[in-house]
Amino acid sequence: MSGPRYHRSREQDQHLLAFECQECGYVSFPEERETCKRCGAAPATWEDTHLAERGTIRTFVVQEYLPDEFESPQPVAIVDLPQADGDGEPARVYGLLTETHLEEIDVGTEVEARFRELFADGDRPINSFKFAVPRGEKR
Ligand SMILES: [Zn+2]
Repeated sequence: MSGPRYHRSREQDQHLLAFECQECGYVSFPEERETCKRCGAAPATWEDTHLAERGTIRTFVVQEYLPDEFESPQPVAIVDLPQADGDGEPARVYGLLTETHLEEIDVGTEVEARFRELFADGDRPINSFKFAVPRGEKR
């Protein structure tokens, strides 16, 4: 059956579409910018690329004191998400961590993107996700 697989890859297309600079290889996510942040190419030439759902924590901070309506402490991480085709550089993605205990996370911990809400702005889907430590796997 190829049905579910197709569905999954379509979802992935919508969620993790990134843009690779054809000048320097920098991967921009989630937005396609006019100018490449790294090499300064303007206008930059971007090629669509898809990111893997799993990556590794590059660095993180823990927000300890937040207004009452927010979950705290709230870890926030920069995660390197590789390109799904395995080529090129990873994208450096900023995101909140959820369903995760502080002692589980460190630099280099593998996390996966969990999509919470998705709403459309015209034709373009808006990404809304958090990262979490994958469950059901002993490491
Ligand atoms: Zn560039």
